[in-house]
Amino acid sequence: MEPERFTCSRAACGEPALWRVEWRNPKIHTADRVKVWLACDEHVDYLREFLAARDFPVRVAEIHLPATNTAETNTAAINTGATNTAESQA
Ligand SMILES: [Zn+2]
Repeated sequence: MEPERFTCSRAACGEPALWRVEWRNPKIHTADRVKVWLACDEHVDYLREFLAARDFPVRVAEIHLPATNTAETNTAAINTGATNTAESQA
């Protein structure tokens, strides 16, 4: 098994993610239910504006990746349980 890696949540983009885009849909999510998309430098603005255009609360935070051996950081940084990107895919 390949270790889980940070990659951009944008469909068809496999770039390493540098940003966490944290958001929720107020209509279906309670205030403590935050979804996380990961974004590369190129798509962080796209994803943030995509969500902001729908009036979803959205917050962007930087992912700090060590230069080598990211395995432990990966699981520690994504602890919301919202790691799937199904909603961003057709
Ligand atoms: Zn991307």
